[in-house]
Amino acid sequence: MDKKKTFVTLEQLQEIDKTYPTPYHLYDEQGIIDNVLRLKEAFSWNKGYREYFAIKATPNPFILKILKEYGCGVDCASMTELMMGHALDYKPQEMMFSSNDTPIEEFQYANKVGAIINLDDITHIEVLERALGGSLPDTISCRYNPGGYFKLGTSVMDNPGDAKYGMTHEQIIEAFKILKSKGVKHFGIHSFLASNTVTNEYYPTLAKILFELAVELFEKTGADIRFINLSGGIGIPYKPEQKANDIAVIGENVHRVYDEVLTPLGMNDIAIYTELGRYMLGPFGCLVTKAINEKHIHKEYIGVDACAVHLMRPAIYKAYHHITVAGKEDEPCDHVYDVVGSLCENNDKFAVDRELPKIDMGDYLIIHDTGAHGFSMGYNYNGKLKSAELLLKKDGSVQMIRRAETPKDYFATFDFCDIFDKLNGET
Ligand SMILES: *Cc1c(COP(=O)(O)O)cnc(C)c1O
Repeated sequence: MDKKKTFVTLEQLQEIDKTYPTPYHLYDEQGIIDNVLRLKEAFSWNKGYREYFAIKATPNPFILKILKEYGCGVDCASMTELMMGHALDYKPQEMMFSSNDTPIEEFQYANKVGAIINLDDITHIEVLERALGGSLPDTISCRYNPGGYFKLGTSVMDNPGDAKYGMTHEQIIEAFKILKSKGVKHFGIHSFLASNTVTNEYYPTLAKILFELAVELFEKTGADIRFINLSGGIGIPYKPEQKANDIAVIGENVHRVYDEVLTPLGMNDIAIYTELGRYMLGPFGCLVTKAINEKHIHKEYIGVDACAVHLMRPAIYKAYHHITVAGKEDEPCDHVYDVVGSLCENNDKFAVDRELPKIDMGDYLIIHDTGAHGFSMGYNYNGKLKSAELLLKKDGSVQMIRRAETPKDYFATFDFCDIFDKLNGET
């Protein structure tokens, strides 16, 4: 089986352990930077290109600052994500607000901090207008859902017909007409049709759909279309046998479709936007945990000090996350284990029937590809506390970029009653 490389060694983990106990999420600054540079290069043919990093994937201001330095904006979907973007001084056009089922206060706040509002539904035109006291922003984006199945060749990638997002074809045309009549000056189009696509074909195929829609919208409404947002969805190879996407090829093929559909009509000043999350951070984070228990019953179990609250994907999606036992990279995988956490939930398993080297108590397990939708999906079931996040910096030093939760944090929402005062003295 192919090996998946880690960005940290056993020696580094032992060193980190002197200051920061496991479990923790660790991020690789150099990896993040090299990757964002490759992305920017791939789309450098497009003058207005910008990546709006999907905050929800890794909502940490230190991570956002790295990306910001390389020109990335942020895509926000909630009040607190907007607040984070605002606190980090993103300029108005550097924040996208791609929400759905949106509360009115979030529209108001998004507008106040200058985020570009990406409307999920035609009914939101009225809601937004009311929210903003009768006026609309100069620039508005609309989210498109073509329905049906999304296919690449003959294989079904995803099922937009069953997805709650976006407007139908008819509705988006109508929405553009209404928005234009209400004085909106500039327009964007957005769509997200398939998640975690490990193929170079997704973006070019989506781009063709959206570019053709842009032409139709322009012809039918005369709208001034300024950007097309390909959103997220570029995946990563979680499994060792999967082949990674080649972002240069993806960029080139989007360019080719752009030149086929838009350029001949003189629509060649439309900016391409992306809202990647997983692709930007996924491989550049890992969850480091220690083996603390072993159990030999009907199966062989290794209990670690992390659990599903630190990484939910295996529990809810049965997602595969590769595991490396630090320092045992070259040992034969001649044991079969379930690697489990301590939740009172039998889906709290990081790996099931996984072939691994013999694991000894105290071994560090590196759970790969947790940089996106890892920490951020965490929760507090069983009263478990969220872990720290650490950044392995370019110079090899380690910086804590989020401290671990303490019992005091867990009890903080009882700060209006007497249990808090009693526990506060003890925590
Ligand atoms: C989740 C999300 C993204 C990022 O998705 P990835 O799969 O991480 O690339 C981008 N845009 C929107 C609107 C999203 O909801």
